[in-house]
Amino acid sequence: MDFNLTDEQLLLKETVRRFVDEELIPLEAEYRPEAEAMPDKYLRPLQKKAKSIGLWLLDIPKEYGGADLDLLTRCVISEELGRTVVIPYRINEVFGPDVRPPLLYCKGEQKDKYLRPVLSGEKRMCFALTEPDAGSDPAAMQTRAVRDGDDFVISGTKRFISGAGYSQFAQVWALTDPEKRARGGITSFLVDLDTPGVNLTRQQPTMMGDSPWEIVFDNVRVPAANVLGEVGGGFAMTQEWLTDGRVRCHGAQSVGMAQRALEMMMDYSQERITFGKPLSERQIIQFMIVDSAMELHAARLMVFECAWRYDRGENVRDTSYMVKITCSEMAGRVVDRAIQVFGGMGLTKELPLEWMYRQLRSIRITEGATEVLRWRLAQNLLKKRSRH
Ligand SMILES: Cc1cc2nc3c(=O)[nH]c(=O)nc-3n(C[C@H](O)[C@H](O)[C@H](O)COP(=O)(O)OP(=O)(O)OC[C@H]3O[C@@H](n4cnc5c(N)ncnc54)[C@H](O)[C@@H]3O)c2cc1C
Repeated sequence: MDFNLTDEQLLLKETVRRFVDEELIPLEAEYRPEAEAMPDKYLRPLQKKAKSIGLWLLDIPKEYGGADLDLLTRCVISEELGRTVVIPYRINEVFGPDVRPPLLYCKGEQKDKYLRPVLSGEKRMCFALTEPDAGSDPAAMQTRAVRDGDDFVISGTKRFISGAGYSQFAQVWALTDPEKRARGGITSFLVDLDTPGVNLTRQQPTMMGDSPWEIVFDNVRVPAANVLGEVGGGFAMTQEWLTDGRVRCHGAQSVGMAQRALEMMMDYSQERITFGKPLSERQIIQFMIVDSAMELHAARLMVFECAWRYDRGENVRDTSYMVKITCSEMAGRVVDRAIQVFGGMGLTKELPLEWMYRQLRSIRITEGATEVLRWRLAQNLLKKRSRH
């Protein structure tokens, strides 16, 4: 078993690390994202720089001008990015517009109307799955899309939709067959947000700074040509996208945050003197450091192994659940210990730790609460075992 990254991956890692250390971390004193989008005055120069060093549209196929990197390589990059708190946690546009994999299901005219304008930065999109009564269990959604001639008519309410306020269109999931639901009854639509009947009714500010939107769809008429993928194929599409995010974002990015917190904790404990000795000479502090280093090492290996298997075409659903649970909880503990070692300074906004703490807390809930993943994982493991 070869645990080494390829020369190309090592080079990319080094390039991204330099970009983070030289361009992003120095910005932290001036800017800390407390909203979904990065202001243009920071975003545009960073995009220019990222493009000039070849870090552009990392997960997009080459036919659309992307780098088409595999998941393992994107995890290597994501870990390095996790070390800075300058990039908004949920919407990273520094390496190109946020084109989520489902948008790559665009076909025919949809490509010119939706995909290409997103890739060129002319349009932005949001992802509208969650509802007031269907969060962890999206298959319980109530939003309906009813066929009427060449159109579908959509009615329902979506909640917690990131970026809706500055998006031109949304990818909306709705029930086309209430009997079938997750098994072929949910369809994904591209909906222009200026269509009559679409109302952004409120924003809900959160502890992380994000303020996702509630969107009410009141008999919104959408052409059948705006179905993304196949009618009834919407649910499977979501699962594919979520697996990628669990490994790359909840996994690798959390590892990067924990790495920085650990380095900060080690440096500070050697400088800070209390009762005549550096903190690093106290066994209780050493245990915090070593527990963090061990947990971090195990979590990183889990991310890399899962991404490697994904790239080989293996089904990594269960492992991706393990990755999200392990990495988000591990990084939360490491950042918590780092705050403890820094004492009062750890609580201030002068350090990045409090920001990491808030973001890490949120991913134990969003895009799959860790309890739900544990429950699903237990079901899958028990089912496999009962077949023996
Ligand atoms: C800042 C932010 C941004 C978001 N952005 C988007 C977005 O862009 N698009 C979008 O569609 N959604 C978005 N969401 C929604 C997010 O994905 C949901 O909040 C999440 O899926 C959880 O759903 P819920 O809040 O309805 O919690 P619920 O489903 O009500 O669950 C509440 C809690 O119950 C427990 N629980 C639930 N089911 C089980 C079970 N089976 N077993 C054990 N425990 C269980 C868990 O602890 C869970 O945390 C966002 C949310 C936030 C806060």
